[in-house]
Amino acid sequence: MKRITVLGATGSIGDSTLDVVARNPDRYQVHALTAHRNVDKLLALALRHRPAVLGLTDPAVAGGVTARLKQAGLDCRLAVGEHEVAAVAGTEGIDLVMAAIVGAAGLAPTLAAARGARAVLLANKEAIVMAGRLFIETCRRSRVALLPIDSEHNALFQCLPPGNTMDCGASGVVRRLLLTASGGPFRTTPLAALAGVTPDQACAHPKWSMGRKISVDSATMMNKGLELIEAHFLFDMPSERLDVLIHPQSIVHSLVEYVDGSVLAQLGNPDMRIPIAHAMGYPERIPSGATMLDLAAAGRLDFEAPDLDRFPCLRLAREALEAEGGAPCVLNAANEVAVARFLDGRIGYRDIERINAEVLARLGQAPAPASLDEAVAIDAEARQIAVSL
Ligand code: NAD
Ligand code: MG
Repeated sequence: MKRITVLGATGSIGDSTLDVVARNPDRYQVHALTAHRNVDKLLALALRHRPAVLGLTDPAVAGGVTARLKQAGLDCRLAVGEHEVAAVAGTEGIDLVMAAIVGAAGLAPTLAAARGARAVLLANKEAIVMAGRLFIETCRRSRVALLPIDSEHNALFQCLPPGNTMDCGASGVVRRLLLTASGGPFRTTPLAALAGVTPDQACAHPKWSMGRKISVDSATMMNKGLELIEAHFLFDMPSERLDVLIHPQSIVHSLVEYVDGSVLAQLGNPDMRIPIAHAMGYPERIPSGATMLDLAAAGRLDFEAPDLDRFPCLRLAREALEAEGGAPCVLNAANEVAVARFLDGRIGYRDIERINAEVLARLGQAPAPASLDEAVAIDAEARQIAVSL
């Protein structure tokens, strides 16, 4: 029996993870579930999965929760606030910690998991974008296994030579990593119409059902930009050996090109339970609940190069990756502010790229964060400028 903690249990990745857990009851036991403020859903999940610990990061919603737990006959400890939840994440010896909080808020608990858990299942890409080197070094030092959940990175992990995926840049056998992207809801929208698109249109992803922040990132392709940076850190690959390929069907999840000209790809229906089950079962394979891929029914697989005029955020992320240092942290913070404002209806869609470009231009020379505090400080400064814009 493996013990699993799910950070961000009430979100989209949380749902998929707990679905895989429920399909494999003889293999996994839920140790802890955490959420930000969705108490009702967290309690419903607790009734279903009977964890030992529940975490709520927002103290404002924690009043009365202990009484509700008792009423429901649930015997679990309640951890409240960011510090307590990070401590839950860092509990020594938990077999698997699914890091599925969205955004910079996930950095502290994900880093804590990288010190205490046996394996970190990384969905929270913003954490590795903010402090990639620190995060990877922390995992190495504490000998924590790092398994990518992002479908592209999980695909790459599956196609890389086993054993040394973290050093594949230096291995001499891998030439390039190709990340696929669906192109999102605006792949063919006339450029002139982009300024007027609404949050609901941006969140209507053609292939994946996800939380609203990553859905907007997929529309702007900032998501793919963050994923380039994520791939750089996860696999130690330089920017010039990382490429993006638009693939509207979202069936090929990424590809590894070897020096001999062989290209290995991982395919599957677009269902996050597939990479989640892969990482949860690794090195074994377990059922995920996903529908099996029917290539004859899919009929065709298309590929095209991304248009950087349509997706300027992808270019910005590439710039941040090549600037190294604190630039990825700066860009991530600006983007989180801009996307939140866009989702609130306070700015337009194209203001996202404008704010991201401006904040990156002003703060892009920041040094790489060597500690959690430094990452938080760079993040805060970038947010302040983004808000002022
Ligand atoms: P979501 O919005 O559906 O869920 C977010 C979760 O984070 C919720 O449980 C919420 O309670 C928690 N959370 C939000 N703000 C928090 C805060 N300030 N402190 C603590 N917890 C907080 O998001 P999602 O789509 O599940 O995405 C989660 C992460 O996984 C993101 O980093 C995203 O980029 C990544 N990811 C998601 C998908 C997907 O298909 N949804 C695919 C690849 C990667
Ligand atoms: Mg992805």
